[in-house]
Amino acid sequence: MIPVIGVGAQLAGKEEPRSYGHRRGYIDAIAAAGGAPLLLPPLADQTTRRALYDRVDAVLLAGGTDVDPASYGHDRHPTVTEVDPHRDESEIDLIRWSLADGKPLFAICRGVQILNVALGGSLIQDIPSERPEALVHQTRVWRQLAHDLVLEPDSRLASLLGATNLQVNSLHHQAIDRLGRGLRIIGTAPDGIVEGVEGTNGSWLVGVQCHPEELWQETDPRWRRVFANFVQTAAR
Ligand code: MN
Repeated sequence: MIPVIGVGAQLAGKEEPRSYGHRRGYIDAIAAAGGAPLLLPPLADQTTRRALYDRVDAVLLAGGTDVDPASYGHDRHPTVTEVDPHRDESEIDLIRWSLADGKPLFAICRGVQILNVALGGSLIQDIPSERPEALVHQTRVWRQLAHDLVLEPDSRLASLLGATNLQVNSLHHQAIDRLGRGLRIIGTAPDGIVEGVEGTNGSWLVGVQCHPEELWQETDPRWRRVFANFVQTAAR
């Protein structure tokens, strides 16, 4: 059986008419790992979105615009210029449904941020202004290693990557602040910024702040093992 992996899509392009889609790194990573990627557009109708969700074996939450700070009760920081409440709502549903059904969930960049918010956590809205002592996390270079990532030795990620200290890319200005329920911090940058979480209930739930979908091909092929394990778990 080839498992179907739903990928949360976003509105792409600045001008009308816009597209639903996402960068091919996510799609290619899933296909290379033996999964069948299926884009899940953030449609307004929840029943239609649920019909799509029911057909997938796992969910990948991808990168994109900032989560609306209203969803964790904060005023919007001036650097948060673009939000998509429809996508937030759609992905919070995907998170709740996946956790309830025990479907594997892989959350990348914005994905780990919306995961944390969906579970009652909050975000640092802008690392440079709220944590001025932090490293540079918004490099704008996809396939360049930017900073160290230190992993908990007993985490799923450390086991799959075969390492507790590696370098990752970094293209984010937000990060987890107050941790959501049912999550455990398993990865940090040397400045203390949260870079990885996993679920505490044993199901396949991994979130990373870096972009492994742009690393697995050349920069760090160890990430192939993470995508492979995610897809294989979805096949069971
Ligand atoms: Mn980072």
